[in-house]
Amino acid sequence: MDRVIGIDLGTTNSCVAFVDNGTPVVIPNRGGYKTTPSMVAVTEAGKRLVGHIAKRQAITNAENTVSAAKRLIGRKWTSPQVKNAVATSSYRIIEGPHHDVRIALRDKDHSVPEISAMILQEMRVIAEDHLGGAVQKAVITVPAYFNDNQRQATKDAGEIAGLDVIRIINEPTAAALSYGFGRNVEKTVAVYDFGGGTFDISILEIGQNGVFKVIATAGDTFLGGEDVDARIIDWLVSNFREENGIDLRQDRMALQRLRDAAEKAKCDLSGVKETEVNLPFIISSGRNEALHLQRSLTRATLEELAGDLVERTIDICQQTLEDARLDKDEIEEVILVGGMTRMPKIQQAVAAFFEREPCKGVHPDEVVALGAAIQGAALVATDQKQQMILLDVTPHPLGIMTVGNVFEELIPQNTTVPTSRQKIFTTSRDNQTAVKILVMQGNAEKAEENEFLGEFILTGLRRAPKGQIEIEVTFEINADGIVSVKAKDLETSKEQTIEVTATSGLTRDEIKQMIHDAKDQMLDRRASEEFEGARQEAEKLTAEIEKLFPMVEKIVASSDFGRDAIEKARSIVGRAKIAIERRDATAVKEQIEGLTRTHKMFKGVVAKTQ
Ligand code: AMP
Repeated sequence: MDRVIGIDLGTTNSCVAFVDNGTPVVIPNRGGYKTTPSMVAVTEAGKRLVGHIAKRQAITNAENTVSAAKRLIGRKWTSPQVKNAVATSSYRIIEGPHHDVRIALRDKDHSVPEISAMILQEMRVIAEDHLGGAVQKAVITVPAYFNDNQRQATKDAGEIAGLDVIRIINEPTAAALSYGFGRNVEKTVAVYDFGGGTFDISILEIGQNGVFKVIATAGDTFLGGEDVDARIIDWLVSNFREENGIDLRQDRMALQRLRDAAEKAKCDLSGVKETEVNLPFIISSGRNEALHLQRSLTRATLEELAGDLVERTIDICQQTLEDARLDKDEIEEVILVGGMTRMPKIQQAVAAFFEREPCKGVHPDEVVALGAAIQGAALVATDQKQQMILLDVTPHPLGIMTVGNVFEELIPQNTTVPTSRQKIFTTSRDNQTAVKILVMQGNAEKAEENEFLGEFILTGLRRAPKGQIEIEVTFEINADGIVSVKAKDLETSKEQTIEVTATSGLTRDEIKQMIHDAKDQMLDRRASEEFEGARQEAEKLTAEIEKLFPMVEKIVASSDFGRDAIEKARSIVGRAKIAIERRDATAVKEQIEGLTRTHKMFKGVVAKTQ
């Protein structure tokens, strides 16, 4: 059977899981951690770092270390969220060729899907190392509230990473799958997912025979733990300014240190009531004197600083319940997902709102990846017992722009996907040969306030008086939540499939080039890992042989045979050293056999005389 991995591509951390003989398990990385920071960096020497090693050097290499790229994926350069990120990020965010967003790392600009692909590739390597073989297929999760552009860009990232993304699923839905897996429950559940960058709430019905039906979903893709960190940073910066008259934000390194300290303080305050933020030598006073930042932060102050953010999530819960036409007491279980749900204030607010204690049985950092793995296994399962039915919904209304900037809704929010709707368009002028259709997603009545997905132009229409040409256009949302559009001339039945090309996306050629670059990087990385493994083994053996040389020489000095063996040993050691110097993995491997034989023989000679 095909092996499928489930990847939770998080704003702050990512996690990979697979189903091992019917049991979903998280795969730890080489350091033994079950989650990997979603961070990418390029060092001064041009080396690419991903995960923990990228995080460890973030302070000293702030300008070339990317974190929270997920906040930018599928967004346009002009969006307020991108403007905000440009102002607050320690790395350089620039405008790309399609009004999209690019990230400058050293001398190269990268698209956001490319950065996400580096993280996905890392997760793939973690899985391949663990499973001992190639992994191609993956299910990747996205926030439920992601729009088409964001989903498409995430799929592109998977493709760039060389993965066959068999499904994109929503994070809260994945969490519910993991919760319901093997429990045989029939319940209406709410999944409250507050992560590093996004907030989502979904209400689902878990039914018999593995049917998971999402009833309503909503969220905010720019509300997360990072906003809580930002509140702490603001507080620290303004206190520091009052005391020292210096704005710490001007210094990238200081800002990165503040960011780390703020996040740490926030996490500490989930366990203790008061913590100390201590950043010695944070900045120079300008008079050749170093200034230190030292301040204590209480849980109560943090709760005050972040109170409105928590409130916002509760307002969204309220709205979602209304959309689902359910009362609070109809929710039978509340599942908490995402690192931020460890904050006591959040747990209290959720418990108070739903009037019930949230479920404690799921791990907030792992549950999404586990759910993705479960869905992956179900998609390739041939055995009916393993198959599940997942009915998700579209988080945003889909529509088109009509005359006067009016948004005409075609597929309402919370419609079960896959789904499709048809609409007949007629020409509005005599001899009109082309019709232009603008597709968008969103809740605003004014079309231009919604997310523009793309446009298509139907050309080559027959010349006829106005109103006589009828074109039937089908709007489709697939199970990944991705939109496509088909058009048919009703008289001739001529059909066209039109790809809605989003202006913020990448072209096919760009994606092809990026796949190629990522493959090269992967080969380089694999080659360098292969070399490192061989080098370590060869160096260990040569060191031990060299240690034994004086003793062996003494023992066998009198015989020609012995001298010959020593000569041979020296030449093997010499060849191994040259191969290491040339970084030639194959040649090093070739010498390992000889080194092992020599080492064994030397040890035997020494042992005999003792
Ligand atoms: P996720 O996107 O689910 O990995 O969640 C990451 C977010 O959870 C980050 O903003 C973390 O700072 C935050 N987080 C992790 N652990 C804790 C904790 N113990 N208390 C509060 N927030 C936490």
